[in-house]
Amino acid sequence: MPSCGIPNLKLILIALTAVENHFMKKNCRINTYREVVEAMSRGKFTKDIPTGDDEIGELGKSLQKLSAYLELQFDKNQSLSRIMAECNLNLRVNDVLNHIYESFNKFIPYDRISLALLENEDKSLKLHWARANYEPMKLRVGYSALMSDSRLKEITDSVEPHIINDMNAFMKKHRGSDSTRIIFGEGIRSSVTCPLIAMGKPIGFVFFSSRKKNTYKNLHQDLFLQIACQLSLIIERSKLYKIASLNKKLIEQKKELEQRVSHDALTGLLNRPAIFDIFRDQIARAKRGGFGIAVIMIDIDHFKEVNDSCGHLVGDAVLCEIAERLRELARYHEHIGRFGGEEFLAILSPCDKDGAMKAAERLRVAVASKEINVEGELIPITISLGVAISSELGTLDENILLCKADEALYAAKDKGRNRVEIAI
Ligand code: GH3
Ligand code: MG
Ligand code: MG
Repeated sequence: MPSCGIPNLKLILIALTAVENHFMKKNCRINTYREVVEAMSRGKFTKDIPTGDDEIGELGKSLQKLSAYLELQFDKNQSLSRIMAECNLNLRVNDVLNHIYESFNKFIPYDRISLALLENEDKSLKLHWARANYEPMKLRVGYSALMSDSRLKEITDSVEPHIINDMNAFMKKHRGSDSTRIIFGEGIRSSVTCPLIAMGKPIGFVFFSSRKKNTYKNLHQDLFLQIACQLSLIIERSKLYKIASLNKKLIEQKKELEQRVSHDALTGLLNRPAIFDIFRDQIARAKRGGFGIAVIMIDIDHFKEVNDSCGHLVGDAVLCEIAERLRELARYHEHIGRFGGEEFLAILSPCDKDGAMKAAERLRVAVASKEINVEGELIPITISLGVAISSELGTLDENILLCKADEALYAAKDKGRNRVEIAI
């Protein structure tokens, strides 16, 4: 065997080891790249990606760039999703604007964001919200301008974000509006104006402004459009919300007013005009339907004594408790109101003699069966009732029925109170 073979083998071994090392190193980086790509697919991004000057190393550099780009897109999507979530969760436009201001600087450069809304049947534009990273802001919230003095109309017509990358040149070329001059005075040199459109109708604008010239590229356009779209949605929703809550308030106020007009302030029962309206309605219905109705006059017995011995306030409480017991017992065809003082009136329609007497007795028992407790003091109380029934009297006349019920009530008083008497 020639002696020169051994060193050659050694050389080959060294070379093979070098090749093996080289491939192991390569393999090792490829493994790392695989892990990096897998992590990226799970939304995890790292800057720790090995590179080198060989082909594999170049791949690492590209992967680093891809990772940085995807991380930015991922953040952007998360911020947009948060705005969408806020749109669904709360209806405060200012909260969403603050969120945009605080989280979008990574994706779009700006020194100031403001929001203006159309008012006055779209004749004027008012600054609703503004925030900047410098002071003072000269174009402040509340600033209002006529749309006729503004070039913004053209932007709403085009529906596209409008970019000015050199405000000085723009002002020299066009007759700049007052607001453009003011904002230029703040140091703003470029801006994007995004129209806000809701249900196909312009409602305002959101402005992103920078103190540097040439800040905005068409690259940002889709992001501006998405932000404008979400803002339009939330503004429209909050308007609807305001209208809905205003409507709800008005309905509640109307109900309260109706309640006050038709109900007695002390007892909460129907008041005299309201129970008389029902009385007249029921007479008309009974005439049409050919059925009878009953009128019951109710008067508290010896109520003056309650006032005299316990005081007027206790008297009031007793009145309220009696009213409550009468109201609780009233069935759907029985209407009870406060006639005046310590007297009540019940209209039962349709009703015959038997039904009327049973109902009157039910009311009497409800009061007499249990003393009234006013702050621990137990007050025994009764009522007397006079019943008049149209079918028994052969009349469906309001005055006659009332008069007859009153006569029956007096009869009940005469016969010792705490009883029901019927008119004949
Ligand atoms: P009778 O059994 O004959 O009906 O005797 P009475 O004492 O109930 O009748 P009277 O007509 O002599 O007195 C009625 C009393 O009711 C007098 C009045 O001060 C009282 N009264 C009327 N309205 C109210 C009210 O809103 N609150 C209070 N506390 N008392 C009232
Ligand atoms: Mg009386
Ligand atoms: Mg009385």
